[in-house]
Amino acid sequence: MRSATERRAELKEVYERALGCTACPLHQTRTTVVFGAGNANADLMFIGEGPGAHEDQQGLPFVGRAGKLLDTLLQEIGLERASVFIANVVKCRPPGNRDPHPEEIESCHPFLRAQVELIEPRVICTLGNFSTKLLRGDPTGITRLHGRDEVRTIGARTIRLLPLFHPAAALYTPSSLQTLREDFARIPALLAAPVPPQPETAPPEPWPEPQPEAEPGSAEPEPEIPVSPSIASEQLGLF
Ligand code: URA
Repeated sequence: MRSATERRAELKEVYERALGCTACPLHQTRTTVVFGAGNANADLMFIGEGPGAHEDQQGLPFVGRAGKLLDTLLQEIGLERASVFIANVVKCRPPGNRDPHPEEIESCHPFLRAQVELIEPRVICTLGNFSTKLLRGDPTGITRLHGRDEVRTIGARTIRLLPLFHPAAALYTPSSLQTLREDFARIPALLAAPVPPQPETAPPEPWPEPQPEAEPGSAEPEPEIPVSPSIASEQLGLF
C-alpha cells in the first residue's frame, strides 16, 4: 500500500507524462491536457467522457454546467469535490465536442488505468456511456446499467462500480436528472461497504509511455515531457 505522499508523487509523474502526450490526433487541437483533478487519496472516483470547451481552456475537468450539477449532486450526499477524484476517458478535447474515437480512447487508456491503480478508490462512478463501456469492457449502454452497482476488477484493483447517467444529459432531461439524483443517493452506502477482496497478484500494468503519433515519412523528435512542479498541486486543485 502506497503512502499518501507516494501516491501523490506518482500521480504527478503520470500527469507530467500526459502533458507531453502526442499519442493521438487530439493533441493537435487541444489547448490543455485535462488530466483530472481532486484528491489523490480519494475513496470515490468519477470518470466522465472527455473535456469540453471550458475544461480545455482551464485544464480542469467538469468546470462547465455539467460540472456545476456534479458539485450540487455531491453536496446533496454530503460530499465535496475536493474529497473525490474526477477524471475522463480522454484527456484532450475532441474537436467540436464530437464523440472520442476508439483509437483515441485506446491510446489514452493507460493514463486512466494508472490513475485508478495509484488512487486505489473503493468506488468508481462512470458518467455516461463511454466510461461505462470502457470500464466494463462491454457494449451494454448506460440506460440499462445506471444505478446498478457491481464489483469489477480494473487492472490491479477490485472496486465497486456504479454507472450513472452523464450530468450533461441530465441537464436537458428532467426525468434523467431525477434518476441521476436517485442513483447518486446510493453512493454513501457503497462507500461504507467493505472493500471487495483484491486480486492476489496484481497483473503487470504497463506504465503509460505513449508513443508519438506516427507520421509517415517524418522522423518526429521525442516529445519533451514538461516538468512543472508548481502546476500539479496548485492548478490541478489538490492531488
Ligand atoms: N463532460 C465530460 O465528460 N467531462 C468533462 O470534463 C466535462 C464535460
